[in-house]
Amino acid sequence: MAARRVNPRAVKLHRSYSVPELAACFGVHKNTVRHWQRDGLKPLDGGRPVLFQGATVRAFLSTRNASRKRPCSPGTLYCFRCREPRPPALGMVDFVSFNDKSGNIRAICATCETVMHRRVSKTELASILPGCDVQYVEALRRLKGSSPPSLNCDLERQAAA
Ligand SMILES: [Zn+2]
Repeated sequence: MAARRVNPRAVKLHRSYSVPELAACFGVHKNTVRHWQRDGLKPLDGGRPVLFQGATVRAFLSTRNASRKRPCSPGTLYCFRCREPRPPALGMVDFVSFNDKSGNIRAICATCETVMHRRVSKTELASILPGCDVQYVEALRRLKGSSPPSLNCDLERQAAA
């Protein structure tokens, strides 16, 4: 399953924890703790069973959480299937505006073709996706009352009535 973000404050700084204790503390599987160890979480020296200092665990997880918050680099959106920032397929992006200031970027992941979304302000758009071919799409609710519905909408409405 997707790696859940844990709260580093669940451990006490001055306590040491065995693998099962840490797992219980964070509500994760013991293997997750072993992954942390593989990813650089340092145990206390030489102990068997392996013990981790609470302060070390907390620092490790805080850094890890922070690095996950790192925004996508320009030209990419976060793809939830790839779990990586990905460029939009063919450099094509829809921008659905909510209002004059912000909207939603919608694009297809170039790698797995999953739809990716990201909420942005209009002023950020150019810096987030430089060189992308942006199609501006007005959100439907914006059109309500301000312009006549399209012919298609009318036909659908009649068919449904
Ligand atoms: Zn993807």
